[in-house]
Amino acid sequence: MALTISPIPAFTDNYIWALQNAEGQVYVVDPGDAAPVKTWLAERQLTLAGILITHHHKDHTGGLDDLLALAPVPVYGPAGGHIRQLDHSLEEGDQITVFGHQFDIMETPGHTLDHIVYFHPGSDEADDPPLLFCGDTLFAGGCGRIFEGDPPMMYNSLQRLAALPAATQVFCAHEYTLANLAFAAGTDPDNGDLVERQATERSKRERQRPTLPSTIALELRTNPFLRCHNPSLQTAVQQRVSRELDTGLELFTALRRLKDQA
Ligand SMILES: [Zn+2]
Repeated sequence: MALTISPIPAFTDNYIWALQNAEGQVYVVDPGDAAPVKTWLAERQLTLAGILITHHHKDHTGGLDDLLALAPVPVYGPAGGHIRQLDHSLEEGDQITVFGHQFDIMETPGHTLDHIVYFHPGSDEADDPPLLFCGDTLFAGGCGRIFEGDPPMMYNSLQRLAALPAATQVFCAHEYTLANLAFAAGTDPDNGDLVERQATERSKRERQRPTLPSTIALELRTNPFLRCHNPSLQTAVQQRVSRELDTGLELFTALRRLKDQA
């Protein structure tokens, strides 16, 4: 039985992803604000059944108290002691089940030290693709800022996500896609897939549609942070920073710094 997955927009550019089963029960991912979740559930007469958290930032956890006052549902999230409302602390290799769907927990430190992602491997059924809820680690066309970790840590986390099945649907926590692709186009000028993607995503935003989910396949073709072994990207970034970037990690570190300054 397939999950129905919908974005609940919050703040200016967050998405709180809602996973719904056929009985009208819902898990939400990273509810930074309770109000839009409550409204969304009430309008559809759905019931909150659980909450998944990727990391401790307020715009991903700020709605916990109000939602738990509404319904005392289980809260899953990263171990590390930052999130007092958790009743299930998760670590690398843990597995949880959401409406009969198994999710593997991967630790992806970098944006924060406590960041985890939820990966459902999918099955051969047509309506059961692999799914990834990746918070602020991987974005469409970009990646999260490195606040608590360091570049090697974030690079390693992204490399692990890049190795997931190409068909994996990628549910990021922010609508940053157009700004990320504009930056990407400036660093990866010979990438035809990127030009094509910019047009596609721009047209979705003009119609007020989310650009998400993405897929790992699309990110591998168009996200410079997952393309740090691409020779033409390497040449372009080397020219911009006027020095040799010999390894994928060096290229990643330079790219992340350029994006922080953009
Ligand atoms: Zn964050």
